[in-house]
Amino acid sequence: MHQKFSHRAQVLKSSAIREILKVTEQPDIISFAGGLPAPDAFPLTEIKTATDTVLQSKDIYGALQYGPTEGYAPLRQWIADYLSARDQTAVKPAQVLIVTGSQQALDLIGKMLIDSDDKVLVETPTYLGALQAFNQYAPEYIAIESDSEGLKPETISDDVAAEAKFLYTIPNFQNPTGRRLTESRRQTLVAKAKHNHLILVEDDPYGDLDYQGHRLPCLYSLAPENTIYLGSFSKILTPGLRLGFIVASEQFIGKLVQLKQAADLHTPSLTQYIAYQVLSKNNFLTHHIPKIREIYAKRCQYMLDSLKRYMPRQVHWNQPEGGMFIWVELPENINATELLSDAISQKVAFVPGETFYAHAEKTNCFRLAFVTVPEEKIERGIKILAEMINHRIHH
Ligand code: PMP
Repeated sequence: MHQKFSHRAQVLKSSAIREILKVTEQPDIISFAGGLPAPDAFPLTEIKTATDTVLQSKDIYGALQYGPTEGYAPLRQWIADYLSARDQTAVKPAQVLIVTGSQQALDLIGKMLIDSDDKVLVETPTYLGALQAFNQYAPEYIAIESDSEGLKPETISDDVAAEAKFLYTIPNFQNPTGRRLTESRRQTLVAKAKHNHLILVEDDPYGDLDYQGHRLPCLYSLAPENTIYLGSFSKILTPGLRLGFIVASEQFIGKLVQLKQAADLHTPSLTQYIAYQVLSKNNFLTHHIPKIREIYAKRCQYMLDSLKRYMPRQVHWNQPEGGMFIWVELPENINATELLSDAISQKVAFVPGETFYAHAEKTNCFRLAFVTVPEEKIERGIKILAEMINHRIHH
């Protein structure tokens, strides 16, 4: 039957690492692998109350009925107002499309923009789920170098920028590295995009999670004509609602609406109504986001302290200013995928870095996710990893 699969389906491979990581769901494993938000930061009471409100009012009919592909109008208005205020930029509700998680946005954007062998620029490393979404449309990836300050815009030549269909980037607390693109690089990137008519796909699920509450301007606010902005409620409400959004020019939104209609008609009405109830009451995010930041900053610091205490001096990592991830670099001769097999036998897990490259480039890095792991387990897990790495350095 395999030969009946389309070419598109045939080329998809399930990732070997995903298979290994299935064991990390076992309760006795200390897992720094999953990129899940912390359940203790979920606004349970507010979601319960909002659900009751929706189901006990006349909204129940709208919430259980088919709705517009673009999304629930009050929620689109709320998003437009929120972004306009937060980023000091003018977003109209007509520029907002609600999607079933920002993951769907990645798929729709791939469908809208990529013909096979089109050039797509990605930072290295980048979000695995974006590569999986775009892979279906068979682009040719061009890897853009990055360092601790994010991608290096000066390494993108004008020719490459002009030829590429788009550049995909996560400027804030990137998945997998936790890095944030500096303000001056944002300016350089945006100037290059404007000069070469390059589309920037700005994926920003972690933007609100800066521990100090110090936002840098989003690319969308610097170049609204060039940018397709992706937002998500997964990290500031809960991921199970499956709610994200795209903000772009009305021309892009119109095309994306056609594609979304074919994909799933619309994002579930019920979750949109519930989210709107939560978000529109008493400036909910103004109280809630600082709570998430506090929990995440504390766990991040705990992991940084543990790394400092136990890791051999040949190992390097970054100090994230927000988000959920730390990126660790080992000496070049240590392969992180091999290390994972051993780590799992000692009941610790992480995601090896090579998964996050469009072209498997670096094998000596890995991603640590810290927000769902209790503090005593963070310390124990890092100690075990450090001992294994130490052993490899000295043998
Ligand atoms: N983009 C990035 C960079 C992510 O890390 C994630 C979630 N892990 C997503 C998109 C997808 O998020 P969601 O579909 O839940 O909005």
